[in-house]
Amino acid sequence: MAWHRRNFLTQVLIPSLFTKRSGDEAAPRFPEIKPGEYGITWIGHASFLVQTHDYNVLIDPNWARWLKVIKRLKQPGFEIHHLPDIDLVLVTHAHFDHLDRRTLRRIASDQPIVVPVGVGNLVHDLGFNIVHELDYWQTVRLGSLKISLTPCHHWGARFLADLHRGFGGFVIEANGRAIFHCGDSAYFPGFKEIGERHDIEIALLPIGAYDPPSGREVHMNPEEAVQAFLELRAKKLVPMHYGTFRLGYEPLDEPLSRLLSRAREAGIHDDVLVMTEGQPVVL
Ligand SMILES: [Zn+2]
Ligand SMILES: [Zn+2]
Repeated sequence: MAWHRRNFLTQVLIPSLFTKRSGDEAAPRFPEIKPGEYGITWIGHASFLVQTHDYNVLIDPNWARWLKVIKRLKQPGFEIHHLPDIDLVLVTHAHFDHLDRRTLRRIASDQPIVVPVGVGNLVHDLGFNIVHELDYWQTVRLGSLKISLTPCHHWGARFLADLHRGFGGFVIEANGRAIFHCGDSAYFPGFKEIGERHDIEIALLPIGAYDPPSGREVHMNPEEAVQAFLELRAKKLVPMHYGTFRLGYEPLDEPLSRLLSRAREAGIHDDVLVMTEGQPVVL
């Protein structure tokens, strides 16, 4: 128990106002994706562009400069108009850092969107041609892509009383290779089951916001993310959900340094792929 009461307003929010946003938004050079390859571009926070030879998929896209009173401290990796045509949008849950209606409205151009059950009414009016609501382990297909919703340990209310909203992560499968976007989650035993049901190769795992003002256990810390990675039996760990918005008391640069030192101890340092916003990687 801390001796001094901490104050999120004076210790985190107000200092953020005086912190200059870092990062730049150069036009990215999206690579040609060959059959069987994945192109992955981190946009920032939990937002990713995942490309296959045939499809461009956006996950939790968010170009917001502010989440209500929380300032974005790192620019998105590139500007929204640099995006290629998007074939499919996935949103893991209704929290403001993952579901940004303004961003979604700009991306929507008659393509499908996939959300957990109970989230559809937040996106149905934005310009998507169909809203798929998935329950845990349910799947939806788009050509050669198979999308599955996975469980997590979190909560889904965007406001206070809308606790009916679902929340989860996604497994994207194409050409026999699987990418897992965890969404937000505390550490929980379910990672093992996700790894048993899906042969996950690349795991996008959240490592920040583990010291939230609410004190609730809703986000993994970096050590728990390594544990989750091992239980998923994935081959590559891509850390996310750090360095963009201060959603917890921890300093912005703490999650990554803790992750790297834990990964070294666990002997998986070579399996960690630290991405830079706006710089595509082909795997
Ligand atoms: Zn969340
Ligand atoms: Zn989040």
